Amino acid sequence: MTHCLSVLVQTPAHSQMAGALSYRSELAFPAGTLVRVPLGKREVLGVVWDAPDGAAAQQIAPEKLRALAGPLEGLTPLTPAWRQLITFAAGYYQRSLGEVALAALPPQLRDLSTVQLGRRLKRNAKTSTQDDTNCAKGEDLAVLTPEQTLALQRFDAEPGPFLLFGATGSGKTEVYLRCVARLLTAEPQAQAMVMVPEINLTPQLEARFMARFNPLFGEHAVVSLHSGMSPAQRLKSWLAAHSGAARIVLGTRMAVFASLPRLRLIIVDEEHDPSYKSGEGARYSARDLAVYRGRLEGAKVLLGSATPSLESWHHSRPTQEGGRYLRLEMPSRIGAAATLPLVRRVDMNHQSKRCVIAPPLLAALAQRVTCGEQSLVFLNRRGYAPVLHCSDCDWKSECPHCSAYRVFHKIDRTLRCHHCGYTERVPRACPACGNPDITAMGRGTERLEEHLAELLADVRRPNSVSDQWPQGEPVRIARIDADSTRLKGELAAQLARVHAGEVDVLVGTQMIAKGHDFRRITLVAAINADSALFSSDFRAPERLFSLLMQAAGRAGRDADISGHSEMWLQTFHPQHPLFEALKRHDYPAFAAGQLAERAQAALPPFSFQALVRAEARTQDIAQGFLCAASAGAANMADGAALLQHISLYPAVPMSMQRVANVERAQMLIESPSRAALQRFLTAWQAVLHVTRQQAEGKGLLRWAIDVDPLLI
Ligand code: ADP
Ligand code: ZN
Ligand code: ZN
Repeated sequence: MTHCLSVLVQTPAHSQMAGALSYRSELAFPAGTLVRVPLGKREVLGVVWDAPDGAAAQQIAPEKLRALAGPLEGLTPLTPAWRQLITFAAGYYQRSLGEVALAALPPQLRDLSTVQLGRRLKRNAKTSTQDDTNCAKGEDLAVLTPEQTLALQRFDAEPGPFLLFGATGSGKTEVYLRCVARLLTAEPQAQAMVMVPEINLTPQLEARFMARFNPLFGEHAVVSLHSGMSPAQRLKSWLAAHSGAARIVLGTRMAVFASLPRLRLIIVDEEHDPSYKSGEGARYSARDLAVYRGRLEGAKVLLGSATPSLESWHHSRPTQEGGRYLRLEMPSRIGAAATLPLVRRVDMNHQSKRCVIAPPLLAALAQRVTCGEQSLVFLNRRGYAPVLHCSDCDWKSECPHCSAYRVFHKIDRTLRCHHCGYTERVPRACPACGNPDITAMGRGTERLEEHLAELLADVRRPNSVSDQWPQGEPVRIARIDADSTRLKGELAAQLARVHAGEVDVLVGTQMIAKGHDFRRITLVAAINADSALFSSDFRAPERLFSLLMQAAGRAGRDADISGHSEMWLQTFHPQHPLFEALKRHDYPAFAAGQLAERAQAALPPFSFQALVRAEARTQDIAQGFLCAASAGAANMADGAALLQHISLYPAVPMSMQRVANVERAQMLIESPSRAALQRFLTAWQAVLHVTRQQAEGKGLLRWAIDVDPLLI
C-alpha cells in the first residue's frame, strides 16, 4: 500500500513553507523516523513528523506526491517527547518547525549517505561494547558537608525544578555529581544532561565526570556536545546519546536539543549566564527550554548558580508570588576557599583627574608582586584606546560603516571596528585637517597593560617564595582578551602560564572573570566598575554584580593564601547599593533591591517581552516596516482581543544603530501575561509576513522576533 508521510525539512527562517511536506512511501515509517527526501533538485534530510496518513499529511492522492528516498537505517525514531520539545520551541520562539528541528540535529547527519551512516553506527557499537572490561575502582568520595547533604536530601524527596543557590566554592559540582549518580544507578538506562555556558569550561567538567562515572558506567558513558567539536565528533556524541549508550551528555546550550530517550535529569550550571540564550536563528533560552523539557519528560531539573538570574531567583522565592522552583541553599565555601575576599572600594572622586590606577591599589598590586602572589586586573574594553582624536578639528576615528568608533590597536597600529571588522592602518596625521598630533582617548586592556608595566617597572618578583628582599626579575604582566586569544589554543596556553606562576599581573576583559579557577590569585581589581550602573539596559546591573561576584569567588582558593585575598573596585559611586551588597557578598540583598525596582517598573520577571528587529539600508525603511506591522496588528481578526494585554511600543533605532552599513531598528512588545504575549505573537506573525511582501517591506533586508530578549 502507498502511504502519505508528512516530513519536516530545513526551511528558511520565514518561508511560508513552515509546516511539513508530504511524500509518498511504500512503507509506513512512524513519526520521528529520519529520512532522506527529494527537495527541488536536491535530496535532503527530513524527519517524519506525524503518523502515516495522518491529518497533517495533505489530503492529496499519494500517486501525485514525490517519493521518499528512504530512511536513515539503523536509527530508532526520535521520541514523541523530542518532537514535542521542537514543536514547543518553534512555537514559543516564533520560528518554523523545519528550521528548529533540523538545526537541532547534528549537521553531519544531513550530509551522510545511509551507507556512511551505517559504518559510523557499526564503529560506535564496537567501542561501546568494549566497555566494562577496564573498569577502574571508583574514586574515594569526599564526605559531604551538612549543606550538601541537606541539598541532596531535598533533591531526593521533591520533584523540583530546583535552584541550587551555592556560593562559588560551596561544592555545587559535587552535588551535581551525586545527583547524577543517584538517578543513574537507580535506573539502569537513565540518562542525564549537564549544561555549562562556555565551551572552555567543558574540558574541566568532562574530566571530573569521566573520573567519577567511567568506572561506574563504562568508558563511553560520558560524552560532550558543543560547537567546538568537529562535525564527526558531534555526530558520534549525538548517536551515542540517541542510542542510549551514553548515559551522561555534557554540553553547551545546543545540548538541550540532544536526543536522549531516557532523560531523567537536567543540570544547568551557572544558569544565569547570558550565553544560554541563542543570538541567532531561533533565539531560544536553553535554560528555559531545559525547565520545559524536564517537565515534559519527567526529568528532574537542577539549576545552579552563585548569582542566579533574577528570573530564576524570583521563581524560587518561597512566597506565593514566585514559588515555582525549590531553592536549595549552600552559602558556605568549603575548606581552603572558606573566607571570601575582602571587598575594597576606591572612591575615584578623591583621586587626581587623570588617574587610571589609584595609588592605594597600585601599592597593593606592587605588594602582591613582591610577595610572589598574583593579581587580576580587569577592564571591559579591549584594544589600546576606544577612539583616536584630533584636538585641532575634533576628528574622531569613527567607523564609516557603523555607528561606532574604531578602536585603536597599538600592537599592529590599526584602527579596528569591533562591530563590522573594518580595519585600517592608523593614519600618520589627522585625515580631516592634517594635524600630525592625533591622540588616543580613553583606554582599553592593551593600554592598561602598557600603563601597568610602566607603573610597576621598579617592582621585582621574588626568586623564590622565601625570598624576603626580592632582587629578582622585573614584574611579568600578561593580557587575556579576545585579541590575545584569537588563535586556537592560545587561551589554554596563556591560562597554563598563569597557573604555572609565570605571570604576576593578569590584565583582561570579562573573559578572565568567568569560570576559570585562579587558585593563586589573591587580588582582583575592577578598574572601571561603574560602566554598568547607569546603563539604559535594565539588566546591566545584574550582569555587573554577577561578574564581580564570580571574579571575587575565583580569587585565592589556595589554602595558605585565601585568608588575605581582596577585591578592589574603582568607582565614583562607592555608596551605590550594588557595591554595598557586593561588599557583604550579599546576593539576596542585591536581588531584593533589583526585583523591587523591576516590580515597580513592570519589567521582567514581572512582565514578558519580545522584540522585533528589522534591518534595512535606511533607518526609515527599517522603522517603516515595523510601524506598518504595528498598525496591521489592530486590523487582525480578533485584533482587539489579542491586543488587550499587549503594549506595542514605537519603533526606535537599536542602540547599535548601524553595523556594516545596515541600519537597525527595533520594536518592543510587552505584556503582563506570557500566554497573552504568545497568542499575540503567533497571530501577528502572519501580519509581519504580509507586510514584508507589501510596499512597506520593500528594501527590508531581514526581520526577526526575539522572545524574552536579554539585550534591549
Ligand atoms: P562550586 O562548583 O560550588 O564552585 P566545587 O564543586 O568546585 O564548588 O567545590 C569547590 C572545591 O571543594 C573543589 O575543590 C571540590 O573538590 C571541593 N569539595 C566539594 N565538596 C567537598 C566536600 N564535601 N568535602 C571536601 N571538599 C569538597
Ligand atoms: Zn584634525
Ligand atoms: Zn564598523
